[in-house]
Amino acid sequence: MTTATTAAAGLRLTLERVTLGYGRGGVLRDVDLEIEPGEILTVVGSSGSGKSTLLRGLAGLLPPYRGRILADGAEVTGPSPDRAMIFQEDGLLPWRTVLRNVELPLAIRKVPRDERRRAAREWIARVGLAGSEDRLPRELSGGMRQRVQLARALAAAPRAVLMDEPFGALDAQTRAEMQRLLLDVLRDTSATVVFVTHDVDEALLLGHRIAVITSDGVRILAEATRERIVKEL
Ligand code: ADP
Ligand code: MG
Repeated sequence: MTTATTAAAGLRLTLERVTLGYGRGGVLRDVDLEIEPGEILTVVGSSGSGKSTLLRGLAGLLPPYRGRILADGAEVTGPSPDRAMIFQEDGLLPWRTVLRNVELPLAIRKVPRDERRRAAREWIARVGLAGSEDRLPRELSGGMRQRVQLARALAAAPRAVLMDEPFGALDAQTRAEMQRLLLDVLRDTSATVVFVTHDVDEALLLGHRIAVITSDGVRILAEATRERIVKEL
């Protein structure tokens, strides 16, 4: 059963000679990439380089023209609750309270009410929002809404979390708080994380490994330093 405390093992995500894009031509061409179970892979690239496109492919929202995208060896053919997504714009349902937003993915999975309440409350507390369960999204700051998104994603015990510049719209101080919080809560899960950012320092801070998207494609940097990444971009 999915509870906040029994984390399922992280997914291995594999791209085999994948070409992804929209209509004419590929945004990303012939990408080979292996994302290890439980790792935090940060993907850094300039605006328009294809970061969101890569995540949409991994999420199963954009089928590749060529090649295969695999999760634990099985071809990804569509979205799955195993792979949670977190966006920059929060995607919370405005008419649902914090508690009912966090519960939603569990409700969709038909987790019994008491159990999903417990998991939701536990994760709301873990992201520092205890006491805000009954508030509506519009009553929260941008940072608090991102905390709710994080709780909602992790309460459902996903095996991978795909994050698309989730802290990009936050002020510097709130962003630093969220980065610390993310590292903190991820310690209690074994989910594989793909975290996309255009911020080199964020990529270095959060990633176990760092992939860079350039006009040549997607490449893991063996020894990532600020200077190396900036030179690649
Ligand atoms: P990033 O997230 O790195 O800023 P994207 O993956 O969003 O970049 O976009 C990569 C390229 O694909 C850009 O040139 C963008 O204009 C194009 N693109 C993105 N989404 C679409 C779409 N829905 N239809 C057509 N082209 C798109
Ligand atoms: Mg993007």
